[in-house]
Amino acid sequence: MEAITLHDKHFSPYITSDEIKTDVKKLAERLFSDYGHTTPLFIGVLNGSFIFMADLLREYPGPCEVSFVKVRSYSGTQSSGTVTEVIGLSDRVKDREVVLIEDIVDTGNTMVALHNIFEGHEPAGLKVATLFFKPEAYKQNIPVDYVAREIQNQFIVGYGLDYDGLGRNLPHVYKIIES
Ligand code: 5GP
Ligand code: MG
Repeated sequence: MEAITLHDKHFSPYITSDEIKTDVKKLAERLFSDYGHTTPLFIGVLNGSFIFMADLLREYPGPCEVSFVKVRSYSGTQSSGTVTEVIGLSDRVKDREVVLIEDIVDTGNTMVALHNIFEGHEPAGLKVATLFFKPEAYKQNIPVDYVAREIQNQFIVGYGLDYDGLGRNLPHVYKIIES
């Protein structure tokens, strides 16, 4: 694996697709052991979660339903910290066991804002699962329910995550080289 350039920034290899595959499988097994007796509704948070969601669901061995919402909260490499829009949220969450699927939890602002909005739609249960979690950046008090992998407090791309639109299709994950 070699360093890459997206727009004006350089990134070095950080997590391989094989490592991610192992993390995703473990998380699917944890979710199944907690939700296998129900039919959970997994809701992916677009755009970043689309690849994670596709892989996670193919590792999830039980009945489940799938949906997506889209939020906006981030521009460039700095979290703006506010959810400005939630698109695609339907009333189907009422009385359902809902698991929000995030690509990455950084400050946690997006997760908490989404959590509060979903609570208002009266799910039977509401949990959050994330592929990546930055403990050093996290500013909230509530724990993140399911974390596949903790990472350093650095900006990453690949496996669904972008830098200003580029990098989502990379199978491996790269971290920014600070200059
Ligand atoms: P938070 O609200 O937790 O600070 O940020 C959440 C959102 O910011 C994530 O869902 C993701 O879209 C974006 N984000 C946070 N950290 C990173 C990162 O390291 N790389 C990329 N590409 N996006 C990130
Ligand atoms: Mg996201």
